[in-house]
Amino acid sequence: MSLKAGVIAVQGDVSEHAAAIEKAATSLGERVTAVEIRKAGIVPDCDMLLLPGGESTAISRLLEKEGIDEEIKAHDEAGKPILATCAGLIVAAEDAHDERVKTLDIIDVTVERNAFGRQKDSFEAPLSVTGLDEPFPAVFIRAPLISEVGDGVEILAEWDGRPVAIRDGNVIATSFHPELTADARIHGLAFFDRQ
Ligand code: GLN
Repeated sequence: MSLKAGVIAVQGDVSEHAAAIEKAATSLGERVTAVEIRKAGIVPDCDMLLLPGGESTAISRLLEKEGIDEEIKAHDEAGKPILATCAGLIVAAEDAHDERVKTLDIIDVTVERNAFGRQKDSFEAPLSVTGLDEPFPAVFIRAPLISEVGDGVEILAEWDGRPVAIRDGNVIATSFHPELTADARIHGLAFFDRQ
């Protein structure tokens, strides 16, 4: 039986994530079909969900307009796995300190958008990540800072002494873009709990 992975595709980078999920699944002997989600009614059939990067203001507005926001919350409440990356992390957060972003509050963290500073708008860094044997090549693009984490949140990776990957129950969220390298181990960790 093939599992269904929903990639939220209202805005932002999508095809790389679908490829990374399928690559992670294949390397772990799992079968997954990735579907792109632009309207309500598909999320309830998904076994796993991915919230990609892009522009968090646009993503949160479109999720609400299409009625997908409540479906993502229900998926989370059912304990099914979610990977949220960059703008996806911002949308998933409890609070983004920006009234234009209506956050889903499915992870107990507070974020600051574009907090890594102008000269560091984009950079790549090798990161030690809890659960991965070897460092992960993390690509940061106008990345959000995780400024506060709740008690139940596990910090999986830090950069410059600041959390950049967390796990809150069934959700893994990263400040960086794990889909932009050929390395699909973060997707494996988020969806199959192994690399
Ligand atoms: N800066 C974007 C935002 O605040 C996120 C950037 C990204 O997803 N690469 O929404």
